[in-house]
Amino acid sequence: MIGWFRRQLLSRKADEMMPDAAEFDAVCGASRCLALLDREERRRLRRLAAMILAGKQFHGAGGFQPGWEHCLPVAAHAALPALEIGLEAYSQFHTFILYEDEFESDFEEIDDAGVVHRGRDLRAGEAWHRGPVVLSLADVHQSGHGDGYHVVVHELAHQLDHLNGDADGYPPLPRQIAHRDWVDTFSAAYRRLIREMDRDEEPAIDPYAAESPGEFFAVASEYFFDWPERLSEVEPGVYRLLAALYGQDPLVRLRNR
Ligand SMILES: [Zn+2]
Repeated sequence: MIGWFRRQLLSRKADEMMPDAAEFDAVCGASRCLALLDREERRRLRRLAAMILAGKQFHGAGGFQPGWEHCLPVAAHAALPALEIGLEAYSQFHTFILYEDEFESDFEEIDDAGVVHRGRDLRAGEAWHRGPVVLSLADVHQSGHGDGYHVVVHELAHQLDHLNGDADGYPPLPRQIAHRDWVDTFSAAYRRLIREMDRDEEPAIDPYAAESPGEFFAVASEYFFDWPERLSEVEPGVYRLLAALYGQDPLVRLRNR
């Protein structure tokens, strides 16, 4: 929660950071999932994006200095999952770190035999628990074109998941979602994906979702916003729960287009 004084300050700063309507429309027009929003939703998205620009810090990394034209698309995409649930969803992080392209990151993994593997790999994004959201801008620009890839939604889904601890695919649920419904539906969908992959079948969604229940939730969130037709077709139960979680129905937006 933030206090009254800080809210006032943030609101005034957001007024100053409010993107020009034509500039914001151009950002939204370049992405299918943002272009689907109606006028009223677009107006609220612009205000939320200004609040994100005012309330979060944006730092460059790897020698890159982000400008307004880099931060604005990040804020616009980041505002989408928060459109109905509000920015409290992002209360546990304060900073976006932007690389121009994919970046190297250390990893440590324990395999099924208990062996620890350490190394470096290339990442498009990262979300740290109570830490920053790290993004490759090249991947931000590849996001939101209707093929289920959306690095901003992915990392922010992890931050939402972090609100109640680990990124384990079980974020804080609104009252209208029953705990048992969420666990049963997501577990069954996760197991279905693993079985498809074990049988060497073409997975219906990005196989990265099979890494863990936390990654499944983040990838399902990407499809929910960016390729809702696919998610609702292959995992209607997951689609229904994400619609209740985010308070949005991108399929209805598609139909009304
Ligand atoms: Zn992830």
